[in-house]
Amino acid sequence: MANGTESKVDRRERPVGICPRCHTVTRAFDRLGAKCGRPLASGGKCPGVIRSALAVDEWTECPDCHATGRRDGEVCSRCHGEGWLYDERRLAV
Ligand SMILES: [Zn+2]
Ligand SMILES: [Zn+2]
Repeated sequence: MANGTESKVDRRERPVGICPRCHTVTRAFDRLGAKCGRPLASGGKCPGVIRSALAVDEWTECPDCHATGRRDGEVCSRCHGEGWLYDERRLAV
């Protein structure tokens, strides 16, 4: 790479699904409708089922990292590195 000192971070793609229990997000379509299975602090696995979240208005670009998931060289704490925030009011329905 020539003179590539600029540290430009790419924006992350909008996720396509989310676990309503632990709020893990996914960008893989084949995970939609599948068991989340994320290891929990308690030792078990998350029993949530990944649901699709394909509507544009379900997601908000993280205002702290502008959808890059990175902030000041670290994982963005607001979106946990995902770059996008889910409209959590929808999870309560
Ligand atoms: Zn989960
Ligand atoms: Zn962020």
